[in-house]
Amino acid sequence: MLCYVEATWKVLQFYSKYVWQFGRIHEHFYSGLLFVRLYTETVEGAEARFDLNGQFARDFNADFGRLEAQMRQLLPPCRFEPLLVKSLLVRLLWIVALVRFGPWALPVGLLQFAVAPMSFVCCLLNCFSNLGGALTHWVVTFLSVLVAKAIVGAAAICGRLVAPTAWQVRPVVELNLQFVLAFLAIDLLASLLLYVASAEKVGLACFCKHLVFGFLNGTTTLIVVFAALAGIQIDVAVWVVSGALAFKLPHAVPWVHYLLSQPHAAILYYCEHRLQHLPVVYTHSHKMHHYLHDTLPFDASKTNSMNEAFFWILLETLPCLLAPNLLYPTTLLPAAWYGDWLEKANHTRTAEDRKGFEQQDSDNFHADHHILHTANFSFGYSACLDFYFGTEGRHTRGIDGKVYSLGPAEEKSKGAEEDKRDALVLRVHPLREGSRLNDNYVRATKCHGNALKTSGRGS
Ligand SMILES: [Zn+2]
Ligand SMILES: [Zn+2]
Repeated sequence: MLCYVEATWKVLQFYSKYVWQFGRIHEHFYSGLLFVRLYTETVEGAEARFDLNGQFARDFNADFGRLEAQMRQLLPPCRFEPLLVKSLLVRLLWIVALVRFGPWALPVGLLQFAVAPMSFVCCLLNCFSNLGGALTHWVVTFLSVLVAKAIVGAAAICGRLVAPTAWQVRPVVELNLQFVLAFLAIDLLASLLLYVASAEKVGLACFCKHLVFGFLNGTTTLIVVFAALAGIQIDVAVWVVSGALAFKLPHAVPWVHYLLSQPHAAILYYCEHRLQHLPVVYTHSHKMHHYLHDTLPFDASKTNSMNEAFFWILLETLPCLLAPNLLYPTTLLPAAWYGDWLEKANHTRTAEDRKGFEQQDSDNFHADHHILHTANFSFGYSACLDFYFGTEGRHTRGIDGKVYSLGPAEEKSKGAEEDKRDALVLRVHPLREGSRLNDNYVRATKCHGNALKTSGRGS
């Protein structure tokens, strides 16, 4: 037991040491402004160039290598399949308990940490990555409550002048079984639509495997949230106003990160994702997201694997339970549905002749993470992180029609020899028409048929 505590502490130490230091790479890295500039400065065929400091990547990767060795040394190896079965049983028991006893059964989910102790740190990191988004949602929803109540109040006053009974009915939507079934059915239809419209087709057996496993690994997380919140009523006026505000405030989350002194979400995710792939830590949690080779839209989920979801579920449910019939979970925010669609698109292996339908990652940057497993860790729009740390796939050249390359600065800086060695230039330029950006899948298929066992360049 103590070995799990020690290993968890070491992972947290690494995380807290490096996650605040990304400003060392470039002055606009920590805030995420560089990710935006990278897109705006490559329009109309122009090449964008960014001077980066390479020392941080060397420090990070060297320490990461030591951490990997420590995990192997500290933690007993474990077989994945028995752990998966136990985790699924815990998930099933959790849902049954929530349906039977309501939100008081939320602590039943803690059994996960008895089955997979190293999933605790994965849940913590996932929660920290999502904190900015969740806080933005609660603030927006609270403001919407005020706006919606002001509108309803004004309407009631006007109504009293016109027709006294006209404004007494305030529509609400109850989170009941019909609502949940309709929500899950639409979610499934969105996945099917993406598969039919843009994915590389797979055999029936493979399709069914992804469909069933995607439900167990991902959809059951939503079912836990809905079961814990069964019966809450969502004020339609608040829902509409907060939904509209959330669409109108796309830049709010980075500001919340700034207020919390957090780095940009893409940096949090990159660090979290690298750490989730640590030996044994991976088996306890994130491997569920990689269990099936390659990816279909059904594999997209809110938290990648079910063993990363515990604190995210608390973040979704506890505020609603504390303010019943006033707040509602972020999952039901229309902006979040659009996010879910993009996440499904990330998990679609887009066929070369069907690009453009899903509007996200049609160059298969993340889909390739599911065949390489140890490369392409970042979000698509922040792919420069993988190129900077050297964790891009062996045949990954870029994303969104842009080619990335990292090399030494041509004009060596004046000063100490180390400074010259540290000066790097990231070049980003649009792809020449007619050429393919990422060849991982094609090359893997050629070499291994359907086995697709290639390895990435990275850690
Ligand atoms: Zn992964
Ligand atoms: Zn994935």
